[in-house]
Amino acid sequence: MPAKQARNPFHDIMQASDNLTVRPSNFLRQIIETDLDGDALAGRRFAGRPGDARELAEAPPDVARIRTRFPPEPNGFLHIGHAKSICLNFGLARDFGGVCHLRLDDTNPEKEDEAYVDAIRDAVRWLGFDWVVDGISHEYFASDYFDFMERAARALIEAGLAYVDEQSPEQMRANRGTLTEPGVDSPWRARPPAESLTRFAQMRAGEHAEGSMVLRAKVDMASPNINLRDPAIYRIKFAHHHRTGDRWCIYPMYTFAHPIEDALERITHSICTLEFEDQRPFYDWLLGHLADLGLLARPLPRQYEFARLNLNYVVTSKRKLAQLVHEGFVSGWDDPRLPTIAGLRRRGFTPGAIRLFAERIGVSKSDAWIDDSVLEGALRDDLEPMAARAMAVLDPVRLVLTNWDAVMGAGVFDACHAPVHPHHPERGQRHFRLGPEVWIERDDFSLQPPKGFFRLFPGHRVRLKYGHVIECTGATVDAQGRVTEVQALLVPDTKSGTPGADAVKVKGVITWVAAVDAVAADVRIYGRLFNEAQPDAGGRDFLTALNPDSLRTLRAWVEPALAQARPGTSFQFERHGYFVADLRDHGVAMPVFNRTTALRDGR
Ligand code: ATP
Ligand code: MG
Repeated sequence: MPAKQARNPFHDIMQASDNLTVRPSNFLRQIIETDLDGDALAGRRFAGRPGDARELAEAPPDVARIRTRFPPEPNGFLHIGHAKSICLNFGLARDFGGVCHLRLDDTNPEKEDEAYVDAIRDAVRWLGFDWVVDGISHEYFASDYFDFMERAARALIEAGLAYVDEQSPEQMRANRGTLTEPGVDSPWRARPPAESLTRFAQMRAGEHAEGSMVLRAKVDMASPNINLRDPAIYRIKFAHHHRTGDRWCIYPMYTFAHPIEDALERITHSICTLEFEDQRPFYDWLLGHLADLGLLARPLPRQYEFARLNLNYVVTSKRKLAQLVHEGFVSGWDDPRLPTIAGLRRRGFTPGAIRLFAERIGVSKSDAWIDDSVLEGALRDDLEPMAARAMAVLDPVRLVLTNWDAVMGAGVFDACHAPVHPHHPERGQRHFRLGPEVWIERDDFSLQPPKGFFRLFPGHRVRLKYGHVIECTGATVDAQGRVTEVQALLVPDTKSGTPGADAVKVKGVITWVAAVDAVAADVRIYGRLFNEAQPDAGGRDFLTALNPDSLRTLRAWVEPALAQARPGTSFQFERHGYFVADLRDHGVAMPVFNRTTALRDGR
């Protein structure tokens, strides 16, 4: 018996890393701690790559204290639900001195594509995780195990634990029974192993039509768990596979493939969502038999289930996301309104915000709906200490300082500055100018100010933030009653940061951009894509819940420095919220900013 593994001394240190000082415990952490304290994981070997029992017999002890995996099917783009799984699996590996594998679960040839593989790699890396550990890449493809899986299938047949069933799919369905009635044995269930072996070889050789027969595990047709009523483990499918080409015309079923993938990769904790709970008995049945038959090494992986992430106001099913993209309801997989990782990124979400969100929602065994305010809260908390500040006027109206020439001089502009970040003086200052014409927000002026309105109205004084105090004298209104220009006087000697600044007390401070160096920008204001918290609840067609006003584009004026912003850089537009230079469309010729989120939850 190998020595009991010591408690990981780095555990507490690693808990303090990343952006949380204390990681809340959860049932998975407790299971892992118990496993590491006890003998459950003792005797594990790893050959530097996945391996069967024979390859592992010679292998050294596994240096990874645990192994987890993130196993996406490369049939679409990853979304926020996957992000939860990524943070969970890679996070547990990081915190317990383990390794997390990126496994492309590509056993379903028709729907999969290499392009998705690249997008998946990008998304995982962008989230800040890596499957390359100590120079070894732990990126694996389930299709690399097809040979082993076929061998495992033959071993099960020989052992009388699997048979080729030639019932029609309809007969098979009818004979499966129901929740209240046991199933009925197939007439092929008792056929001799030799006959099944021959048939299976013929299936493999392409001699039988799709749907004409399947290989089934022989478990228990009377089991109350329908998943144990002789599940199909191999089917005929004449399909081209994105990696194995036309080599195979039989493909393993998920229930058969997934446990084997875990076992070959020496996964210790195979974490999946709750809908797989009923599959766990077969997971254990299969791996137990394959280990007994000498094909797989012990200790075997164990499956644990957690509640999937359900987020209000979005859909996360890949099929529904694809429909939104392909039918043109959004601009693409990276549309900033989508909960795809590519969309969230383009919206201005940071990897840190998503990791923080994943930590905050935690993991549990019971399904719950998480409000989108939780995601936005994590986003603000991550952006606040980081995002550079800037001024932008999103709904501009012109303000004219009618005494400018008299007070400041004709043709003179006043140099102003403001901190890049109020809590980080070391990040320096941003520079812009004040002149006789200034853009201000339309709603910072009122001809008939409601009670408690402290911004601009005739006779009232406010401060132009980082600039001077001004006093409103009037406004020009067009035939429709719309204000086209506001007039004001600059109050001399009141500039921010000068001795006179405090001489005049004002209640209101407004943001602005001077016409002399304002830069025009498109600002995209995103709302929720759906008006219903659960767009697809109760079998409703989720398209009927689409919000027709989920995107507004404004022509705004922004601070001059923003024209140089690199795509993907986040800013806090003072008083407005967080914005990001669009990854696709932003350029010096036409700056484009996406609103990531408002300053507070006000939707
Ligand atoms: P979809 O239903 O959107 O197609 P999927 O579950 O079929 O998603 P996979 O590629 O099979 O997508 O998922 C890879 C991993 O991500 C799985 O381990 C799965 O459990 C996990 N995962 C997928 N969706 C969620 C979610 N909403 N919450 C948590 N984990 C998820
Ligand atoms: Mg799936």
